[in-house]
Amino acid sequence: MIRDDREPKNKFHRVSLEWVINLLRNIYRLKIKRTTQLFPMLPSYNITHICNLKCSYCGYIHQKFEEVDTATVLEIISRIRPHNPALNITGGEPLTRDDIVEIMKEVRRMGFAPVVLNTNSLLLPEKEEVLKYVDYIIVSLDSLNEEHWDKVLGVDGATREVKKIVAHYATRQDELKFELNVNCVITPDTLEGVPRVLDFCERVGASFSPAPQIDGTLPNVVLKESDKYRRLIKDLISLKKDKRPIISTMLFLEDILDFLPHKCYPTLVPKILPNGDVFYPCIKLKRIIGNLLDVPSLHYLMQKAFRKYPMPECDKGCHMTCYMEPTNYLEYPANMILEHHLRMRNRLPVEIFPTEQELACFFADPERIFFEKGGYDPNDLIRPEKG
Ligand code: SF4
Ligand code: SF4
Repeated sequence: MIRDDREPKNKFHRVSLEWVINLLRNIYRLKIKRTTQLFPMLPSYNITHICNLKCSYCGYIHQKFEEVDTATVLEIISRIRPHNPALNITGGEPLTRDDIVEIMKEVRRMGFAPVVLNTNSLLLPEKEEVLKYVDYIIVSLDSLNEEHWDKVLGVDGATREVKKIVAHYATRQDELKFELNVNCVITPDTLEGVPRVLDFCERVGASFSPAPQIDGTLPNVVLKESDKYRRLIKDLISLKKDKRPIISTMLFLEDILDFLPHKCYPTLVPKILPNGDVFYPCIKLKRIIGNLLDVPSLHYLMQKAFRKYPMPECDKGCHMTCYMEPTNYLEYPANMILEHHLRMRNRLPVEIFPTEQELACFFADPERIFFEKGGYDPNDLIRPEKG
């Protein structure tokens, strides 16, 4: 019998049936129809470029984009919703918005699940109510070295505060029914402290995911040449096997070990700017395909893009988690079973589906979910209530 001193506490999260059907449809498109034009699994909406930190490596806060008002944000989100049950809200810092609670509440009301919120966490105590409406919170914590890391974040005392907030909210995950993941960017400066961040996550009960620093589309050159970096990733692979709370997949960890070329299906995770502009196929290739306020829905826009533009052959192989993990899942669907097993064993959250309500819906009207209607179905749009 395997000895395990930790309290067993598998957590199960429900994934909507709609999401599972999207996944199966994409596997069918990729493996049978042999097309890499895949429909979104997790659209990512940058609802602001404003942030309360000034990270030296940040690409967002220096961009000049007009902020959009609440009604516009909700209109954009409502146009993401048809055929898209999952949503990633990011920024800038989303919690700097005064209307963030109202927005997240509306996101839930529109039926999004899972809902992911990326935050630096500093405003979480003030805006704690958002936790009622999210499934996953992703907080960046790259180093525990307060003095050094405050300099990178550009705000004195920020590192200590983030550690305090992460430790506090990690203890409230079961009560508030959300999952807290710490994303740790590995830079040449943070390399040595990464295992301490993992220890911290384990101690407080958060999951951990590493991400190598990417400069443009390429891995940081110092990391790429570093033996210490390779040792670290090898250690993380062993530690994941050894039941540590590392949520990144084995495939991802193996991919970032040597930065080998890999496939990329970027339309699985389309990026949307605050004003509703949608990148196609990815943020790195910098093409905006259209604006959500000009079309009925994101699904409609993607269908239009698929008809108009063939997927570009891209050999850049960006080692970015947000593109690599979904691509790996689609490319190696059997790997999902292995990761499911590892998560169960490592006491990490596991997705299950569907809810009884969804099943009832499905049996009442399977066509609604199964058949992809061409173009736009006005009945499928969920709009915020007026007034
Ligand atoms: S927390 Fe994120 S958005 Fe804010 S400055 Fe740092 S990297 Fe940029
Ligand atoms: S590898 Fe990079 S540039 Fe190429 S499609 Fe993927 S994200 Fe875009």
